[in-house]
Amino acid sequence: MLREWRSELNRLLLLIAGASVLGLIVGQITLFVLLALLFYLSRMMFQLYRLNRWLENLPDATQGEPPEATGVWGWIFDGIYRLQRRERQAVNHLKSILDKAQESSAALEMAVVMINHRGNLEWWNKAAETLLGFRAEQDKQQGVTNLLREPRFFEYFEKRHYAEPLRIQSPIHKNLILEFQITLFGEGERLMLVRDVSQMHKLESMRKDFVGNVSHELRTPITVINGYLETLLDHKDSVAPRWVKPLEQMHQQSQRMENIVRDLLTLSRLETKSLPKEQDRIDINSLFREIKTEAEQVFAHKSHTFTLASDPDLYVRGSMSELYSALSNLLFNAAKYTPDKGEIGLSAHLNSAGLDVEVTDNGVGIAEHHIPRLTERFYRVDESRSTDTGGTGLGLAIVKHVLARHGGSLEIYSKVGKGSRFVCHFPKERLLPAPVQAVKSA
Ligand code: ADP
Repeated sequence: MLREWRSELNRLLLLIAGASVLGLIVGQITLFVLLALLFYLSRMMFQLYRLNRWLENLPDATQGEPPEATGVWGWIFDGIYRLQRRERQAVNHLKSILDKAQESSAALEMAVVMINHRGNLEWWNKAAETLLGFRAEQDKQQGVTNLLREPRFFEYFEKRHYAEPLRIQSPIHKNLILEFQITLFGEGERLMLVRDVSQMHKLESMRKDFVGNVSHELRTPITVINGYLETLLDHKDSVAPRWVKPLEQMHQQSQRMENIVRDLLTLSRLETKSLPKEQDRIDINSLFREIKTEAEQVFAHKSHTFTLASDPDLYVRGSMSELYSALSNLLFNAAKYTPDKGEIGLSAHLNSAGLDVEVTDNGVGIAEHHIPRLTERFYRVDESRSTDTGGTGLGLAIVKHVLARHGGSLEIYSKVGKGSRFVCHFPKERLLPAPVQAVKSA
């Protein structure tokens, strides 16, 4: 580069020197130097004009050879040309990556939809047309909630909490069940993946129906067996002594079966029926008192201390029977898995996110690696301990389902030998204001 500038400078000096000599001879040195500078300036202007025309006349500034030139101008033209070539290669490379990404997502069976920050469609693949009915020409830049009008989708889309996927019917094929999963990226843009889960959904409902039907069919025979065993044990005197122990064991096991069938039926109902539109206004404090009284009676032999602590006037919208069952499951577990004379607490406190209901105990505790699996059906920390306590292994699965149906979640904290804390979180939307009477009396 320096070489070109040096020769350009030499050329200018030579021109001025020549003009000065000629000017000296003629006696018009200033005029000749001025004329020489004018000539130099015109040459520069001409090269600038050529450069401008070259860039202007290109349909695409990344193509076409630069004009011929020497010296600094040749160097400038070549530099721009090299830059253009490099840019062209980068653009081609990116284009081929984009083409490949589009080709592969077009071949996917899963619908891929890109949505901009305004919630409008930017791009989608072929599967989005077959599963969601998007039309290539007409639907570009349309709002996604204008095209997918299912209220549950609208709620899911607007909420911006995409940890769990959403399952709904396909808007164009009523027999297809679709699973929507949205990911936020960039500046408020969203990537929506939609897959056909009809087969999986069918298998799941077959499994749910099967469990529901089996439990229903087993209920009557087990109740009959249990009833007869109870009657026999009520008349122990008329039973041969060697049969008393086997009968007692049979009775214990048939009661366990009855509990399992009852819990399976509860779970099956929770899975197959949605919460009714008309829901109860639940007074948390009075619900606590009821559950506490029942636990104190059932576990009187263990001499636990039950304490209640909660904010006043807490009202939640939901199913009374379901919340009763969930909270009593937690409180009964606390009482079951705590040695005699334990301390069991039931509390409820408001916070910015909603309401936290906690059941605490200072019992046996649970090792950390069991905690993530506790809400699985039939998962037990210690098989022998649960059979001793008459547990079914379904209680926490019921709690999890009930909370999910109320938009809530369960968190478990525990330390072996120290005790456990089960926290049920209810979102703000579940809270109800205190009835007018309660406000007056407060
Ligand atoms: P189960 O009917 O066996 O109690 P659950 O689903 O209610 O079934 O609980 C699953 C397992 O979690 C129990 O078997 C028990 O090992 C453990 N567990 C539940 N609650 C407590 C608690 N408060 N303290 C210690 N362990 C608990």
